[in-house]
Amino acid sequence: MRFKNSELLFDKALRRMPGGVNSPVRSCKSVGGRPVFIDRALGAEIVDADGNSYIDYVGSWGPMIVGHNHPLVLEGVKSALKRGMSFGAPTDLEVELAEMICQAVPSIEMVRMVNSGTEAAMSAVRLARGVTGRDLIVKFDGCYHGHADTLLVSAGSGVATQGIPGSPGIPQDVVRNTISLPYNDMAAVRRLFTERSREIAAVIVEPVAGNMGLVTPAPGFLASLRQETENNGSLLIFDEVMSGFRVALGGAQEKYGIRPDITCLGKIIGGGMPVGAYGAGQEIMRHVAPEGNIYQAGTLSGNPVAMAAGIATLNLLRQPGVYETLERTAKRLTDGLGQAAAEAGIPVQVNAVGAMLGLFFSDKPVTDFESAKKSDLERFAAYYRGMLEHGVFLAPSQFEAIFVSTAHTTAQIDQTLAAAKAVMAGLP
Ligand code: PLP
Repeated sequence: MRFKNSELLFDKALRRMPGGVNSPVRSCKSVGGRPVFIDRALGAEIVDADGNSYIDYVGSWGPMIVGHNHPLVLEGVKSALKRGMSFGAPTDLEVELAEMICQAVPSIEMVRMVNSGTEAAMSAVRLARGVTGRDLIVKFDGCYHGHADTLLVSAGSGVATQGIPGSPGIPQDVVRNTISLPYNDMAAVRRLFTERSREIAAVIVEPVAGNMGLVTPAPGFLASLRQETENNGSLLIFDEVMSGFRVALGGAQEKYGIRPDITCLGKIIGGGMPVGAYGAGQEIMRHVAPEGNIYQAGTLSGNPVAMAAGIATLNLLRQPGVYETLERTAKRLTDGLGQAAAEAGIPVQVNAVGAMLGLFFSDKPVTDFESAKKSDLERFAAYYRGMLEHGVFLAPSQFEAIFVSTAHTTAQIDQTLAAAKAVMAGLP
């Protein structure tokens, strides 16, 4: 493949943008490469600035669950655009999307739209602190909840990819109020609650962790978190920015039958436009301004074009059989990747839930951040580069998930598996 235009664009970008990108993991630093610049995408196919075409498993890091440029999503966006781009006043579209979210997600009765997953998690934490009158937040190593100060402690995703523990610029005074524990380690949670239960405002967790590769909750982990928080007057926040509308229509809370107090959403509910949201039961949400005194606001929140993309996407996901199809696609990929690795004699772990999966170059089960970090990162980098050469677009990090969409065809999955077979056979 030739990458001449991408090379030129990246050189230009490096002069004007830190690392040449607007979000760190896109730079492909950890896989020893340079990013390809994207020109366009349709369905499960993405095309770069040199005309190279790939089968896309990034899906804009999750949102594109119905594929790129789905005609019904485009239609929704176009009809919203005709009416205007932003008004700073309420519209029918916000009400419609709020209604759809409340109908789908079991624990949500009221919702506040924001513009990103970062904002959703940051605001959910403020709400939990405001409601409980406590300051301490418990999170889990390798979970990523966006880049707000409080939550950028032992984080996954880009932070893990860069191998940094947090970030300069975050005051010690802020992170003093965040404690990070190993994912799936209920004994550690119980110990902390025994020592500091009266200080803990909330436990925030990715109920299916997608930012250290894909790690599934151990049986009973989420139920025990529910129990422990309830027993101690703390709130349970599910960050479903990634898992929401992906592992099931009602997210991980529907799949595992656990009701969190507060839920964060993002990605899919914006259908590819910048959207986030946080929601809860009425009693909690009525604390949010202007009904209550916990302040949170946004000039572009509930943007009509973004709402229209979200509504169209959720409408498509509500059709019967969609999640069964997504799971079938994911299973074909999961099984095939395991088989390709076995044939090549490469030890891997493949974790999967719903329409997301993770492939780790490791010979041991991956159940938390420590075990994820034991993966062979050099082998992943070689795999990533090989797959790109074979026309498969993956997230450029071992610590990111693989996303399938309703647009992926059986032929595209099989083409991906043939590529994986060829690449794995040549891995170091
Ligand atoms: N929470 C989770 C679980 C995420 O996966 C992400 C992003 O990947 C975020 C929060 C932050 O969302 P955003 O990048 O839209 O700010």
